[in-house]
Amino acid sequence: MPGYVRVNVSARIVDGKALGIKIQEEVSERVSSLKGQGVAPHLAVVIAGDDPASHVYVRNKERACERCGIISTRIDMPGSSNLEEILEVVSSLNSDPNIHGILVQSPAPDGVDELAIASSILPQKDVDGFHPVNLGKLVQGRAGGLMPCTPSGVMRMLESSGVKTRGARAVVLGRSRIVGMPMALMLAQPGCDASVTIVHSKTEDISSICNQADILIAAVGRPHMVGKEWVKKGAFVVDVGISRVEGGLAGDVSPEVSEVAGWITPVPGGVGPMTIAMLMENTLRAAEMQLF
Ligand code: NAP
Repeated sequence: MPGYVRVNVSARIVDGKALGIKIQEEVSERVSSLKGQGVAPHLAVVIAGDDPASHVYVRNKERACERCGIISTRIDMPGSSNLEEILEVVSSLNSDPNIHGILVQSPAPDGVDELAIASSILPQKDVDGFHPVNLGKLVQGRAGGLMPCTPSGVMRMLESSGVKTRGARAVVLGRSRIVGMPMALMLAQPGCDASVTIVHSKTEDISSICNQADILIAAVGRPHMVGKEWVKKGAFVVDVGISRVEGGLAGDVSPEVSEVAGWITPVPGGVGPMTIAMLMENTLRAAEMQLF
């Protein structure tokens, strides 16, 4: 039938929106208890420039803070800001005892080194989990660091679905420092115990590698790149990708994958809300760590 695509959905939908709300409710309770001990968790968000998508992301984070009872302060900087000016703002937030979490919204202005920004935030206030100390703790398998929000959110989705990860074959599509690489480390950690393969733009024969995955995480940023022939029957498929396309948002996973996957995360309403929920949890943990 022209203009009509029939998709036989068999996969279970992993509802990141509902799970994210549940996590935010738990955070909200712990925030109240912390306030009872005299500490009001406070997140500072620095945004440089007027990129519309970044402003939407920041507004969503502010709304989540409101829901959780976390104080949020937004620091708007011009798009012409240089690294030195951004580091100066971070430095003043680092030394402010009333600020528990600091986040500098990506992308930074053209020519500004995001790694230098990530390294300038005190590790105990690094709610994005991108500081080398926090990523180093992840590599060492040490608990207690602040972990990157998106892969942490994916781990929660796996846990809540009750899917078996021990001995499972996991494939992570993408090796970025904010999603793919920490995701692969988390899946391979003792306790999760998956056997992980990372694939990227130089990998050959990606589809047949993906087709062996019990757990497939797509974090590439190419709309509908993962077709149903890439997916093993019954696999747990996580779609991290978000791309703006005509008519809305698209993930990395094609809709037809629902015909073969066992579980699938939707876009929107999947990993996105989980990322924000984990940011709230990290901010709470940062405040708790500074108390104890
Ligand atoms: P990124 O830094 O651009 O990394 C993309 C990765 O995909 C790279 O490792 C790249 O390989 C790989 N890649 C690109 N083209 C490929 C191809 N044709 N075949 C195989 N691999 C390919 O992106 P990111 O920051 O990780 O984000 C990935 C996606 O997730 C984006 O759509 C982003 O918007 C989305 N995202 C969503 C959330 C959320 O909360 N839902 C959070 C963060 C990101 P190389 O390393 O070889 O270049």
